[in-house]
Amino acid sequence: MSATLNVTVWNEFRHEKQHDRVKEVYPDGIHTAIAAGLSGTYAVRTATLDENDHGLTDEVLQSTDVLIWWGHMAHDEVKDEIVQKVYERVLQGMGLIVLHSGHFSKIFKKLMGTSCDLKWREAGEKERLWVVSPGHPIAEGIGEYIELPQEEMYGEHFDIPQPDELVFVSWFAGGEVFRSGCCYSRGQGKIFYFRPGHETYPTYYNEEIRRVIANAAAWAAPSGRIAPKYGNAKPLEAIGGE
Ligand code: ZN
Repeated sequence: MSATLNVTVWNEFRHEKQHDRVKEVYPDGIHTAIAAGLSGTYAVRTATLDENDHGLTDEVLQSTDVLIWWGHMAHDEVKDEIVQKVYERVLQGMGLIVLHSGHFSKIFKKLMGTSCDLKWREAGEKERLWVVSPGHPIAEGIGEYIELPQEEMYGEHFDIPQPDELVFVSWFAGGEVFRSGCCYSRGQGKIFYFRPGHETYPTYYNEEIRRVIANAAAWAAPSGRIAPKYGNAKPLEAIGGE
């Protein structure tokens, strides 16, 4: 892990202002709790929907190595021009970690190209996230599974493209299962979808959940490769017949 990795935690920051139950759990916002879990390891800043350009100015995006995204009730309020800029930065190599209800964010749907729909239920049931890729860097330091005493249920079918790598599969007390840690690459960028984090539960204070998000940031960090060249190309060798 690099001490100089620049991580930006983005949150729509609406539930915490409007719903007392959420405010009790995350009085300073979900973004602040996620940032606190990363601040010992990376250079972390936060950005929220109601800031100018949603806090994602060109300068912020250009200097972000990994962007973490939490949204739910205001996906439609995220401006398409900002989504396009985030999309282009991912293709250029910026890492993106999409959390929980971010499955329905404009940026995740655009990068996946599918509906990203799923089953859900809010019943405060137990979730057990099984590590299904024990050698994967995102699972480093995690045992066989992570157990969350209370979470919202997300169930299959989850309408996503087949992940390049699947790191976690969740089981819920009500019987459903879910692909809850999914890796993708798009362009030069790496994307990790991580399921837990409903706003009424203290999931982002959980040390193992924080460990996974920190691991995912290191995994998703830009490789530093120069961009591939596209378009018309001169031959490297003399081509036969010339
Ligand atoms: Zn939720």
